[in-house]
Formats: sequence, structure tokens, C-alpha cells
Amino acid sequence: MKNQLGNVKECKNLIRKGHVEVNGHCERDFRYRVKKEDCIFVDGQRINATPFVYYMLYKPAGYICASRDAVYPCVVDLIGRQDCYCVGRLDIDTTGFVLLTNDASLSKKLLLPENHVEKVYEVWTQSPITKQAVIDFEKGVIIDHHVQCLPSRLEIIDDYHCLVTLKEGKYHQIKKMFLSISNQVVGLKRIAFAGITLDFRLELGQYRHFNDEEMACLQ
Ligand code: URA
Repeated sequence: MKNQLGNVKECKNLIRKGHVEVNGHCERDFRYRVKKEDCIFVDGQRINATPFVYYMLYKPAGYICASRDAVYPCVVDLIGRQDCYCVGRLDIDTTGFVLLTNDASLSKKLLLPENHVEKVYEVWTQSPITKQAVIDFEKGVIIDHHVQCLPSRLEIIDDYHCLVTLKEGKYHQIKKMFLSISNQVVGLKRIAFAGITLDFRLELGQYRHFNDEEMACLQ
């Protein structure tokens, strides 16, 4: 993505080489998060910067991962920012970690299939989870009659409860994977995304900004 100063790489170079001044001092760290009140000059010229924001939301059931909908409430309503969007989608009845941002280039990077961004789901099933399911998932199951899933990791917690780690994100993938082995998902929660774990202190519907450590996982 390009802004008025160039693409991400060009902007990082400008910052590293000392062309950027934030609130009167030279800022050489490109991880610096611009705040609304910051006064920014590039080579002596004032620029208007919209700060990027990154939120971790604990999505409740009943909300859809969209910016607007005629029927259902949307996750962006929970953070009160219409300029943000979800990086990837969870079904209306799925709970858990949703990353919301206004950073289109990061969103694009995380959603590129070839980047195999990891997602971890906690799953509750209708029938007992067998050891064969672990083997089937490891090999990669077929969904929608002909669509081959990548190998995934299934860790059994107890008979009806497990963790599944995916490196891809097909439509209703977890539900369809369990259907393909004659089981059914009765509860689904995403507990990690891109190496970042859902903050267990968040209540359903609550959100917070990413911390520096989490931001580093996204670079
Ligand atoms: N897989 C599903 O089936 N649903 C989700 O919401 C996420 C992954």
C-alpha cells in the first residue's frame, strides 16, 4: 500500500534515515505508533497522519464480522470505529479473538493464503473426538466433497473438547472439517491468531489495543 510518502518500505527508510520528526524530535523507530495529537514533519514539511490502530476484540456470539448489516449487529459497533475492519471472519455463532484495524496493508499480509497465518480454535463437539480424528486432521481432510484442507493439528482436551490449529482460513472450515469426519461442532472459540493469544482478562464484547509485544508478532 502506498501513501503520499511512498510504500511501506520507502516510509521505513525515511524514518530510519532520520527524515521524520515527531513532536520536535527525530524519530528513527518505525514501530513508533502515531497518536492523534502528534505533530509530524517529513523533511521539514508538516504531514497529516491518521494513526493506525490495532484492537484485540473478544467477539461474542450474535455479532457478524462486517462493517454494516441491515439485520445483525456488527463487531465494529463494539469498538465504535466504522473506519476499522476485521482481519478474517468468524461466523455469527463463533466467539473469540478478532483483530480489528484500519491498516489495510497489514490486513492484506495476514490474509494472504501463502503466508499461512496460524489460527487456534477451541472446539466443543456433539460426538466423542477419536484418536483417528487426530490422524485425519494431520493428513488433511476433504471438505465440500472435493476441497483438500492443509494438514492441521488437533489436540484432544477431553472426549468432547479439543484445540485445532489451522494454517488457512476457508469458509466455515472447522465446522466442515468435523462434518467430514462424521462429527459436529456445537461450540467454537478462536483463542489465538497470528501467534497472539486472546487476553483471558477480556470479557465477551470487550477489546483493547495490542501491546508492543503483540505488535512485534505482526511485523
Ligand atoms: N471455522 C468455522 O467453521 N467457523 C468460524 O467462525 C471459524 C472457523
